Amino acid sequence: MAQRYVRIKTNHEQIYYGLLKANRNVAVYDAPPWLGGQETDIEQELDTYQILAPCVPAKIVAVGKNYFKHALEMGTPVPKEPLLFLKPPTTIVADAQNIHYPSQSQQVDYEGELALIIGDRCSHANPEQAAKSIWGYTIANDITARDLQKKDGQWTRAKGFDTFCPLGPWIVRELSVEAKIKTFINNEAIPRQSASISDMVFKPDLLVAYISQVMTLTPGDVILTGTPEGVGAMNHGDAVRVEIEGIGCLSNQIT
Ligand code: MG
Repeated sequence: MAQRYVRIKTNHEQIYYGLLKANRNVAVYDAPPWLGGQETDIEQELDTYQILAPCVPAKIVAVGKNYFKHALEMGTPVPKEPLLFLKPPTTIVADAQNIHYPSQSQQVDYEGELALIIGDRCSHANPEQAAKSIWGYTIANDITARDLQKKDGQWTRAKGFDTFCPLGPWIVRELSVEAKIKTFINNEAIPRQSASISDMVFKPDLLVAYISQVMTLTPGDVILTGTPEGVGAMNHGDAVRVEIEGIGCLSNQIT
């Protein structure tokens, strides 16, 4: 199994980055590993911590309609260039935390996505440089108030509610280019979304290079790479689980 990099809060309210061991203890690091953090001799035992979202980005840059069949289901062509939008960092919640269903919306959708974690400051990069600035990979759910997205004509409110970016549970450094992504509602046997990340229109290195022509990416920033086909609404109380082969699964409930 790939190394799993976590961020945790201990029962004494201390926050650490670290490496999750097979026995679920955490080897504590002295800084985020993408900033050169090293393993310390502190080991945090199972049941003495909770998992937090695995990084603290200055910004979350997301990409719309980056899978051909999802663009089709939205009734639009695939954009000729990546379609960028921002989610505020206050949208982030960890694995197992609740998504809040806002009273302003009547349709809140899940969007399972691969997330990239930036490790190096990245500005005006070419795709080769951009690939090197990607430190690792995690799972995200780009929760969207679909009715407000259509009503507003731009996406800030629809994508920006607190709790609208479940992220985690951990970061891995390696990922198969053929990894499968699946989204399940209420532990149903058949996934609502099922695709390979190789179906992406613009691949991670191209996305990061493209974004870096616009804004400087800084260590810990998160890129959401778009959702495959099969998006749909959730009801109050539903559980949603996004799985990516080689990473794990991200589970949350909407309340
Ligand atoms: Mg999305």
